[in-house]
Amino acid sequence: ADKIRLGIVGYGNLGKGAVKAIKETPDMELVAVFTRREPESLTLNEPSVKAVHISDAINFKDEIDVMLLCGGSATDLPEQTPHFASMFNTVDSFDTHAKIPEFYQSVDEVASKSNTTAIISVGWDPGLFSINRVMADAIIPNGENYTFWGKGLSQGHSDAVRRVNGVKNGVQYTIPSEKAIEKVRSGENPKLETAEKHRRVCYIVAEEGADTAAIENEIKTMPNYFADYETEVNFITDEELQRDHSKAPHGGFVIRGGNTGDNKQIYEFSLKLDSNPEFTASVLVAYARAAHRLSQEKQYGAKTVYDVAPAYISPRSQEDLRRDYL
Ligand code: NDP
Repeated sequence: ADKIRLGIVGYGNLGKGAVKAIKETPDMELVAVFTRREPESLTLNEPSVKAVHISDAINFKDEIDVMLLCGGSATDLPEQTPHFASMFNTVDSFDTHAKIPEFYQSVDEVASKSNTTAIISVGWDPGLFSINRVMADAIIPNGENYTFWGKGLSQGHSDAVRRVNGVKNGVQYTIPSEKAIEKVRSGENPKLETAEKHRRVCYIVAEEGADTAAIENEIKTMPNYFADYETEVNFITDEELQRDHSKAPHGGFVIRGGNTGDNKQIYEFSLKLDSNPEFTASVLVAYARAAHRLSQEKQYGAKTVYDVAPAYISPRSQEDLRRDYL
């Protein structure tokens, strides 16, 4: 069979992870990486990768089956996903949970009109965690869902702090409370306030002469990202950031505690990731297979992970799946 031809839009952590993930995937090939920067200025992690300016993407309409949108959720994807969904099938990892309904709406309008398939908010959260929240809730109606993240470096939140005025560079760690997790696992379905479940810790390199008090205040009051949490902001040097904070581990848990009659039931799904962007990119690549297949079936419009049956993301045939994985 012909390989599925992919493009990558945006060459940050996720874009680099996507190059690696496609390399591991025999039924797919990478056509080009599209960037807003000068294509010649990119340091490519694979010599065979072709970099192209984003404004030339339209010339690739017949050469690319699915575009992996690897821009940031804060400001890139709200523009880039509707724009690219007018020309290509797309998969993105939009992760501003509070804005997903309006994001879905804006992408669905374009994709339905343009006969493209756009799978939004793919990754692990939103993504694999979302699927498990829905499964657990459907199976154990009498219960309570809990999601814990970390300890890990959150790309979405790091992306957000890096866009604050006066910030040169920075990272954000999400840290779950062990005490809260133990309570949930015991099945007592505790009432937990947002701030009891996690803390947020930022390490920031400020631009020279920047007002660090203003930076700290802007981060701590940022809606959706930080305002509801106990947030700690530390200022460090470039060297310290490189030395202590250049890996991107992450992970977390979805746990549902509930009852069927007199019996306690605990549903738990967890991930332990050495590299968040490489794992997230691998999820995007698997869902690109689904986007391609759905579009071949003329199932156009915006989709979420809830709309995609597992067989659509698998490279294996239905026969193989029934024999080996059921
Ligand atoms: P980055 O900040 O690394 O990249 C975002 C964009 O910024 C890139 O597409 C790139 O666009 C531009 N960029 C990157 N590096 C540079 C640079 N050195 N100079 C100038 N511009 C640069 O973000 P990530 O790749 O880490 O994350 C992308 C998004 O993925 C996050 O916002 C997050 O929302 C989402 N995510 C979702 C997850 C999920 O589970 N659903 C999990 C993890 C992340 P260009 O090439 O056009 O310049």
